[in-house]
Amino acid sequence: MTLHVGRPNLPNKTQFLSYLTGIWERNWLTNDGPLVQEFEQKISKLLGVEHCIAVANATIGLQLVAKALGLTGEVIVPSFTFIATAHALSWIGLTPVFCDIDRHTWCINPERVERLITEKASAILGVHLFGRPCDHARLSKIARAHELQLFYDAAHAFGCGGIGGLGEAEVFSFHATKCINSFEGGMITTNHQVLAERLRLMRNFGFEDEDLVVSLGINGKMSEVHAAMGLASLAQFQDVVLVNRQNFGVYRTCLTDVLDVTLHYPGDNYQYIVLEVYGDRDGLYEALRSEGVLARRYFNPGCHKSFPYAFAWSGRQMTVTDYLSAHVLCLPTGMSVTYEDIERICGIIRNWRDGDGSIRNSS
Ligand SMILES: *Cc1c(COP(=O)(O)O)cnc(C)c1O
Repeated sequence: MTLHVGRPNLPNKTQFLSYLTGIWERNWLTNDGPLVQEFEQKISKLLGVEHCIAVANATIGLQLVAKALGLTGEVIVPSFTFIATAHALSWIGLTPVFCDIDRHTWCINPERVERLITEKASAILGVHLFGRPCDHARLSKIARAHELQLFYDAAHAFGCGGIGGLGEAEVFSFHATKCINSFEGGMITTNHQVLAERLRLMRNFGFEDEDLVVSLGINGKMSEVHAAMGLASLAQFQDVVLVNRQNFGVYRTCLTDVLDVTLHYPGDNYQYIVLEVYGDRDGLYEALRSEGVLARRYFNPGCHKSFPYAFAWSGRQMTVTDYLSAHVLCLPTGMSVTYEDIERICGIIRNWRDGDGSIRNSS
């Protein structure tokens, strides 16, 4: 059987259908409906953050925050992230300035951020990569000293310690592959009331009431059916984390004596199983694929080497990003992966033959 990274964790179907029945009874499909409000309130309580603004997806959430903060010119972002972090900015005319990551957290390196600040910079956008938090204390100090806005792409970090109320705002993704999903969707979280109000306006074309438009805006709304899926998914969140944590434990046990790889500690939601492969990463990737295990090279290449950014790349060194993008491999986890699956995957890794035909990992 084929195994995927990011296979959706389907919630209870009966619960989802009962939410749908409610939607039919109310005949209220979108525009800040009761399920969207319930979803926002539940997440607000769970994460301990003042304001939650549900959006169509995390990409538009990042754009709304950038617009609401009035960003201009350059925004400093990590080079080791999903392309959406950079594209969200470029699409609205901002310039992502790529920064190398920290060797230990794999998040944006604060020391390097400081060196990249120019007069054109207006913000720092950190990414809590694989659910591991950025060094917020240092980043906020730098942001304050240089009068920059600070916000976060928290697409990987739902339910990870302390994340939700950092910086001006944080943006979560509920894309089907994430640990909570609403088919497509996202959530902006913030403790700043003025910003929250501005975001709510901008999410809905700038409408303050029925006829009155008070700001520029876009359609960033989440529909009721997406919120229904989000609510059903949120209800099983603890179970997903528990299963992911157990899966991590099985991987760790099965890989302890395999010398060529290191299993890295994930964030508190255990959403990603991240392997650092010291030898021929692509060889192992192919070996897994040929056995139906569709591992993923997240994130390869780094954004600075990806279209369209590569053309403008100055050639500045990105040592850690370049190293990791060539050595990282994400493995399947989630509700649909069994212990037997994990044992099979680890068996392939253990017996993987390097290019010269020698067995690298025998036991
Ligand atoms: C998934 C993801 C996004 C995009 O989220 P969407 O909801 O699909 O727009 C952004 N950044 C990171 C790091 C992601 O993993």
